Amino acid sequence: MATTTLWTGGLSQIHDGPGGYSGIEAGPEWAAEIKRLARSRGATILAHNYQLPAIQDVADHVGDSLALSRIAADASEDEIVFCGVHFMAETAKILSPDKRVLIPDARAGCSLADSIDAEQLREWKSEHPDAVVVSYVNTTAEVKGLTDICCTSSNAVEVVESIDPDREVLFLPDQFLGAHVKRVTGRTNMLIWAGECHVHAGINGDELTARSRAYPEAELYVHPECGCATSALYLAGEGFVPAEKVKILSTGGMLDAARTTGAKQVLVATEIGMLHQLRKAAPGVDFQPVNERASCPYMKMITPAALLRCLTEGKDEVHVDRGVAERARQSVERMIAIGTPGGGGE
Ligand code: SF4
Repeated sequence: MATTTLWTGGLSQIHDGPGGYSGIEAGPEWAAEIKRLARSRGATILAHNYQLPAIQDVADHVGDSLALSRIAADASEDEIVFCGVHFMAETAKILSPDKRVLIPDARAGCSLADSIDAEQLREWKSEHPDAVVVSYVNTTAEVKGLTDICCTSSNAVEVVESIDPDREVLFLPDQFLGAHVKRVTGRTNMLIWAGECHVHAGINGDELTARSRAYPEAELYVHPECGCATSALYLAGEGFVPAEKVKILSTGGMLDAARTTGAKQVLVATEIGMLHQLRKAAPGVDFQPVNERASCPYMKMITPAALLRCLTEGKDEVHVDRGVAERARQSVERMIAIGTPGGGGE
């Protein structure tokens, strides 16, 4: 029997525009309705760290993409509502093929994942038939299905080092992470796809240098799980920022470091959604973005209206072909087996 609700908002108030679904206020009634709907559907709500604060606050779990995918696989619920971008929901589906995975707006893409598709990868592989393909996690399920080993920024170096030095490596899609790995490993037989997250192309050397001059005592936190931070990772290695001040941290690691840091100021090179959590964790520390425009519009497409629509209508469901999912799962599992894939989150 359906439970009654005092909620006066509803689907009729939702508008669909260029930035996604809108028209719903994220007040306490909305939050109560979201929780009621999730319970009645037997769903668990997962939210990426870069989601809007209201979405994070109403979710059952908040974290980075891999941590959330693992939570999805272990969850007792049969339905996962993934508040994040599409490739992340696909990764959850790959690791939980028997669960129903919903994303509140399937149009929430990722410019980095979109920088190479399966057709382009097939063609690249055909030009290098003996190469080992290493893909960063920001890729579509189809691309993961054509990949030998996935990697995160945290274990990309170890993944490449685990490959026979005589085998050629095709590394994709992030050119900054690729350049970082090539420099650290000294590997010459490694080809790098020229992809990037255009949202955060603004985290550049000049900006990092200017920010670190403006805050000479500040530490620099770089989050490895999202492509937005890999340019900072590369630039830190190039000496734009003193190495001892640079900390490459997962979300959970960033929060732990924030609670214990002796620094008065910390520069944060990642999506600005992270600042909200850091400031809550360590109110006495001055957290400043390296690039205050580093806000991902795809992440922000998961609006209160989109989540309400998702739980009311059971949309958008994420489908991954079984065969593709099986091959993709192998590449993800190889990644998990090598080194520290990073993540952690909450
Ligand atoms: S911040 Fe960049 S890499 Fe991360 S999800 Fe958005 S577009 Fe993709």
